[in-house]
Amino acid sequence: MSVKTTCPYCGVGCGVVASKDADGSVRVEGDGQHPANFGRLCSKGSALAETIGLEGRLLEPMIGGTPVHWDDALDRVASGFSRIIREHGPDAVAFYVSGQLLTEDYYVINKLAKGFVGTANIDTNSRLCMASSVAGHKRAFGSDTVPGCYEDLEQADLLVLVGSNAAWCHPILHQRMLAAKEKNPACRIVVIDPRRTATCEGADLHLPLRSGSDSVLFNGLFAFLAGSNAVDRDFVGSSTTGVVDALKQVAGQTVAQTAATCGLTEGAVGLFFDWFTRTERVVTLYSQGVNQSSSGADKVNAIINCHLLTGRIGRPGMGPFSLTGQPNAMGGREVGGLANQLAAHMELENPAHRDLVQRFWRAPVMADKGGLKAVDMFDAIADKRIKAVWIISTNPVVSLPDADRVRAALDACELVVVSDCVRDTDTTRHAHVLLPALAWGEKDGTVTNSERRISRQRPFLAAPGEARADWRIICDVAHRMGYSGFDYADVADVFREHAALSGYENNGQRDFDISALSTLDGRAYDALAPVQWPVTPDHPAGTARMFESRTFFTPNGKARFVPVMPRPAGNATSRDYPLVLNTGRVRDQWHTMTRTGKTARLMSHIFEPYAEFHPEDARVAGVQNEGLTRLTSPWGEMIARVVVSAEQRRGCVFVPMHWNEEFAGAGRVNALVNPVVDPVSGQPESKHTPVKADPY
Ligand code: SF4
Repeated sequence: MSVKTTCPYCGVGCGVVASKDADGSVRVEGDGQHPANFGRLCSKGSALAETIGLEGRLLEPMIGGTPVHWDDALDRVASGFSRIIREHGPDAVAFYVSGQLLTEDYYVINKLAKGFVGTANIDTNSRLCMASSVAGHKRAFGSDTVPGCYEDLEQADLLVLVGSNAAWCHPILHQRMLAAKEKNPACRIVVIDPRRTATCEGADLHLPLRSGSDSVLFNGLFAFLAGSNAVDRDFVGSSTTGVVDALKQVAGQTVAQTAATCGLTEGAVGLFFDWFTRTERVVTLYSQGVNQSSSGADKVNAIINCHLLTGRIGRPGMGPFSLTGQPNAMGGREVGGLANQLAAHMELENPAHRDLVQRFWRAPVMADKGGLKAVDMFDAIADKRIKAVWIISTNPVVSLPDADRVRAALDACELVVVSDCVRDTDTTRHAHVLLPALAWGEKDGTVTNSERRISRQRPFLAAPGEARADWRIICDVAHRMGYSGFDYADVADVFREHAALSGYENNGQRDFDISALSTLDGRAYDALAPVQWPVTPDHPAGTARMFESRTFFTPNGKARFVPVMPRPAGNATSRDYPLVLNTGRVRDQWHTMTRTGKTARLMSHIFEPYAEFHPEDARVAGVQNEGLTRLTSPWGEMIARVVVSAEQRRGCVFVPMHWNEEFAGAGRVNALVNPVVDPVSGQPESKHTPVKADPY
């Protein structure tokens, strides 16, 4: 038996074929027909079959660590939430969910929170991933729209990667870029990153800029472009607003000033500007190095400004391109997964949108203001404004900044419910009620990748133990809380409702529209081929590229330039904390390692947390290559193996984000990370925390 499904790791969204042999063993191969990967898989994807064993799985509901019947667990969740809502109001409860959820799961939990409980205190770990891109898109385009598609990367003559180690974090997409460059010798790749990462190996130019100076660099480029003949005057005049104010912000900024502020040579900056100016087909890809910043949204807009000025958007081989980190960060946005969003890319604070969604859902009470975003949500749990939280498919005690405070918050919370497929995580240890969820291979639904492509995740394994689908668990709780509107026959029924809402009173006013999929019967849903939204009656085969008509989703249809004034990071280094901590991924691990940590093959790449230092910083700190270091920030500390490398920028230390307490009792880097967020997007500044290092 072979089943086509989708890899559950990064936002590339590769197609996978899972085959089950007669002896029950499972093989996983790339799907040669999936347009994201055409059969290729990276090390993580090709090891998927090694991660599906049941060791470590949560297989039965539990209350207080004791196995219980499902009915008892669901009753406990429903009665606990209902009581707290009755006594303290809807904003006394919260839901913290995940870009690992399938779209259907994500849809029903948002419907429950925003339309029935009446709170927008529902946020997601995608807040840590792409909230700054969402905010930047909405400011520029009036909608959270990724303009381009993966084919653009193969049609471009210049690929600019900003704050992205795609070789490790989006490997198949990076391989597509390298293959395109080999076919097209005119194609150049520029990598903008304080570190010299694996992505630099295939690049023509690496700009190791000073941490956090991306806006200065792109403002400098914007000023440079304005004085060149690369400006698309027709497009700027007819299809944009705000160019004068944006240009005022950068007036007089020179290449020399830009280079000095970014800590780069004038020659390297000049070369990048020259290539960008003279190359029509440019794609600028950006990821967490841009997003995870207290000025992440501004950095996104500084990049988009350069594409708008040159009219390089909505055409083959060009455009700004946000690489989403998680497999369904995009699907979560489609259902309003963030605390400041409403379903189908509608606005929570727009009364017309609220009214539309309320009528469609027949919802008793709609949240009418933005809820608490991830970091603020756990602050509210810590100071008891929130008394009950339901955490679904994520491990915030490892992954949120100031992680010790998150742990203390859960310890103090009146009711902590955790749905997960893993029994023992740093977060499940704090749960009063544990609900066993299905894992990859058992789940059924859809995900959306970085290029707006919706793909099916299909089951090929039976549900183990008493594990259930997340959407069904959520609906069961909703029923017990007395809400109607959660009587779905199956997962296809949830998808049809989600698709119908996207087209409801839309008339082309909103970018997210998959109404052509709202009539799929069960068989057609099961057979759904990967397709890029919008999928409308006019475009039933989907839409590869947005903004080809040069019309945007702002009230006047014009894209907006956003003046960007560069700001320093939230916390500066000091004599006590002289190094900048930068966190990120390694090639063979995913998130908090609950799955990738199960395979010896993946663990053999890098098996322990490390801190990578520039040789001169290592000398000053007195730490030795392969020795141990204690890293300390004002928020916490950790122990890590020392790696000394000239590829690290002086003054910075890089630590991967994956490990937990099990390493020397202190392997969680997020215990150190400052809980500073972007005031526009609410995304934490995971790339810039002042720390000190000592030998351990
Ligand atoms: Fe999975 Fe991403 Fe690797 Fe593709 S590139 S196989 S989606 S981890």
